Amino acid sequence: MNNDICFLAEFDGGSPARSALELAAGAAGLAAESGGAAVGLAYGAGAAAGAASLGAAGAARVVVLSDTDGPAISLAAAAAATIGDDAPLAFLAPATPNGRDLAAALMGLLGLPALGPVRAVRIEGGRVRAEQSTLQGTVITVSESMADAPQPVIILALSGTFTPLEGGGGAASVSTAPSSDAGALGAARIVESHPADAAVANLEEAAVIIAGGRGVGSAAGFEPLNELAAVLDGAVGASRAAADAGWVPYQLQIGQTGKVVKPALYVGCGISGAIQHRVGMQTAENVVAINKDPDAPIGEFADLFVVGDLFAIVPELTAEIRRRKGIPS
Ligand SMILES: Cc1cc2nc3c(=O)[nH]c(=O)nc-3n(C[C@H](O)[C@H](O)[C@H](O)COP(=O)(O)OP(=O)(O)OC[C@H]3O[C@@H](n4cnc5c(N)ncnc54)[C@H](O)[C@@H]3O)c2cc1C
Repeated sequence: MNNDICFLAEFDGGSPARSALELAAGAAGLAAESGGAAVGLAYGAGAAAGAASLGAAGAARVVVLSDTDGPAISLAAAAAATIGDDAPLAFLAPATPNGRDLAAALMGLLGLPALGPVRAVRIEGGRVRAEQSTLQGTVITVSESMADAPQPVIILALSGTFTPLEGGGGAASVSTAPSSDAGALGAARIVESHPADAAVANLEEAAVIIAGGRGVGSAAGFEPLNELAAVLDGAVGASRAAADAGWVPYQLQIGQTGKVVKPALYVGCGISGAIQHRVGMQTAENVVAINKDPDAPIGEFADLFVVGDLFAIVPELTAEIRRRKGIPS
């Protein structure tokens, strides 16, 4: 056993996924606390060529598990063989479908404990301490690994738990995982895939989100929100009511059964602030709500609550931002 922090680094189309950059930064920070090194396990198309570049993201070493697209769970035996002999202190996996699959398989193969999905992690006295949001975001629980827990403790980290490093760092040293019998999990195959609509911005990475709810009233009603998002270089999100109504794709839904987002600015337009929506956006740094009902629950936790008709306020806001930024209307 050692004090290293391992992380899963998924590659997508030749580049590290956002989750890989976040976990590399997280692993580097935790490794500084534990006195070990950040070690990435890379997989996906382009992983071999791009592995060294994870050094700039925080990794000291990277082990390439595979260089092709495929279900992450089929790499569980290779990951287990890589970490099994000299176990790191913790193993960070993204709370994505692939991350969850692989983490669960590792738990089973190596008999490891797991925490997650978590929203904050630190190492104290050689133990892993993690914060989880429970009871629909109304309670934050802090869990700590036991002194005699088998290593590594697997941690499923929500998107936004760590912030990617901005430059710096050199190249990581790269090796290839030793070949191992993939076992039954190696038989997993992707039989069908549905790529995300490229026109829909990735909400989890957006610094500014303009979200619309039932109060927007129709698909066409989202147009003023699109315009506001455009002038702020942001993305458009939605409540489930708006997605259920078919006004926007489900990819835009924020909340318990949608995306968990952490933008610098969230502007909720015609959204009441139900708990199931709140759990997806409550970690936004600044929350602005525009609602015509002064008693809407979102007013209780918004940093700025604007009471009024969104169709009057949003276009005025867009025009004012255009004017201040010198953008022609
Ligand atoms: C198991 C489960 C999971 C769920 N998961 C999610 C989830 O992931 N995400 C999610 O969002 N919801 C989720 N929900 C649904 C959630 O409970 C709410 O029903 C939903 O969030 C409400 O959406 P809304 O705020 O857009 O609509 P409403 O609650 O109907 O609110 C609309 C708001 O718009 C305001 N309004 C109307 N017209 C205007 C106007 N012209 N200008 C300004 N304001 C106006 C109204 O005053 C009102 O406050 C889930 C529910 C369940 C049971």
